[in-house]
Amino acid sequence: MGKFEENFSLKKLNTFGINAKAKFFTEFDSVLELKDILNSNIYKNNKTFILGGGSNILLTQDYDGLMMQHKIIGICILEDNDNNIIVEVGGGVNWHEFVMWSVSQELSGVENLALIPGTVGASPIQNIGAYGMEVKETIHKVTALEISTQEIKTFSNEDCNFEYRNSIFKEELKNKFIITKVEFKLSKTPLNKTTYGAIEGELKTLNLEANPKNIADAVINIRNRKLPNPSEIGNSGSFFKNPIISSERFEELQKEFPNIVGYKMADTETKVAAGWLIDNAGLKGYRKGDAGVHKNQALVLVNYNNASGQDIINLSELVQEVILEKYGISIEAEVNFI
Ligand SMILES: Cc1cc2nc3c(=O)[nH]c(=O)nc-3n(C[C@H](O)[C@H](O)[C@H](O)COP(=O)(O)OP(=O)(O)OC[C@H]3O[C@@H](n4cnc5c(N)ncnc54)[C@H](O)[C@@H]3O)c2cc1C
Repeated sequence: MGKFEENFSLKKLNTFGINAKAKFFTEFDSVLELKDILNSNIYKNNKTFILGGGSNILLTQDYDGLMMQHKIIGICILEDNDNNIIVEVGGGVNWHEFVMWSVSQELSGVENLALIPGTVGASPIQNIGAYGMEVKETIHKVTALEISTQEIKTFSNEDCNFEYRNSIFKEELKNKFIITKVEFKLSKTPLNKTTYGAIEGELKTLNLEANPKNIADAVINIRNRKLPNPSEIGNSGSFFKNPIISSERFEELQKEFPNIVGYKMADTETKVAAGWLIDNAGLKGYRKGDAGVHKNQALVLVNYNNASGQDIINLSELVQEVILEKYGISIEAEVNFI
């Protein structure tokens, strides 16, 4: 079993760069090692948390328990036919590295999700998505260890109850399973999803044809221009979810705010761009101490240097209050508060 560290600094293990400590910290790189940890006294006598890349968490204070970082790696092809391959990927594999592997094999299905930070094991939890693609479209199976029984269980795509930024692992199975590996079904025929965001324009500017590798490169360029790099300025990507409201209510809001941005999900529901709501409320670039709303991306809250988790909470509550007052819409955090 890997050793347990005490009073361990988490500053480098969360992309917000919050300077919090864990009472105990350890890593696991196999299911066997994970089971050893689950059977240890430190595990049994403390609250515990599974850490991936720390890119979707806000450490609100020191963690008074055991943090266990997922390091199970490996990419293995299980099936290969004329149209698809099924590939099994360790939960501790870096997500972007998996995307780069996929496009290097000329496979399609995850290229629009390039440069999303974090691990493969966390990708099903909130059904990561960007630039017109969601991971639920390629996930074939999820394998996870049930904490209470230490048994390995397999979930089909349907079992996962995927929704926008949500899955069964964020709802009824929250904190009950540790995802050890994920199987993806990748297509040998390029999907070429280029209509979302600026992908088409970027390909044109670069004079590149649409294929998985070029789409990934276009997405990387766009993201590098638009999003703050966590290694330069602490953040967790989009801090809030885009709220879903009735299309009727959206049409009412459109009368008052003709430029409001929304995407019709179904006839009756519209997903509103939370970034637009925050920007239009005048909060883009707002800063209090070292906590701020990013100057180019209103959906991203940032830690300029030494903000505490509480400073970020205070800022997020202020943003939520302003949005509720101005538009009558509640916006929910996408980030997990720890
Ligand atoms: C700059 C930036 C850009 C981002 N852009 C996007 C984007 O475009 N789209 C998007 O969807 N997200 C985006 N995110 C959010 C984030 O990258 C994803 O949510 C990612 O999947 C989190 O992975 P992680 O390994 O860092 O998880 P962590 O932050 O370490 O953990 C997140 C949650 O998952 C749990 N968890 C992690 N691994 C496991 C496991 N193996 N088994 C069980 N539970 C586990 C943790 O306990 C925690 O509750 C962005 C973040 C940043 C910093």
